[in-house]
Amino acid sequence: MGFIASRLGELQDRINKQATLWRRDPSSVQLLAVSKSQPPDTLEEALGAGLRFFGENRVQEARAHWERYRPLYPDLRLHLIGPLQINKVKEAVALFDGIETIDRPSLAEALHQESRKQGRTLTCLIQVNTGAEPQKSGAMLETVPSLLGVCRQIGLKISGLMCLPPRNEPAGLHFALLTKLAKQNGLPELSMGMSHDFETAIQAGATTIRIGTALFGEKPEPIR
Ligand SMILES: *Cc1c(COP(=O)(O)O)cnc(C)c1O
Repeated sequence: MGFIASRLGELQDRINKQATLWRRDPSSVQLLAVSKSQPPDTLEEALGAGLRFFGENRVQEARAHWERYRPLYPDLRLHLIGPLQINKVKEAVALFDGIETIDRPSLAEALHQESRKQGRTLTCLIQVNTGAEPQKSGAMLETVPSLLGVCRQIGLKISGLMCLPPRNEPAGLHFALLTKLAKQNGLPELSMGMSHDFETAIQAGATTIRIGTALFGEKPEPIR
């Protein structure tokens, strides 16, 4: 068995255990494989291991990674999990199946217009900057209700919330906050938890966990 396939097996075991422990259906937790900065060989191996749901941080890299696999794997699903600039919206709508990093009304509007133009329906999540970190993207907590209001008004369906907690704080508090915010607003999807804290995220209600290192090993070069 290949490296990724065996990592995937171990991960799936941990996901199943943790979900069961908290009386959740393991199939209610989706594993998003974060393929940023991985070489083509690794992508091939991941596809060979059966992975079909991938996350990328940057539009350009995502296109370079996945464009040629699209026609070969019709069940491939790609989510953008990095910040999106308005001038990349057209390309992003054509390439991705989901955008998890909506954080301002102008971006919501641009996504809505472009999706209509291209006749595509993307899964849309709002990224919340739960730690109020100035250097990080994501909507500030107090602006989420008004951003949701704008989305509702223009007709952009928001499925859920995403967060990336500060590195030096207990993630569980941020996950709980995001869960509460989603519940208050009737949003079913929660994208939270990475390699080092996905078990805490599953406990808190994550429906998507975003896993890079635990699947692919240490990244060749760190991003961010
Ligand atoms: C890189 C990244 C991940 C994956 O992180 P790992 O610790 O490698 O699992 C998840 N979410 C976002 C937004 C990322 O940028």
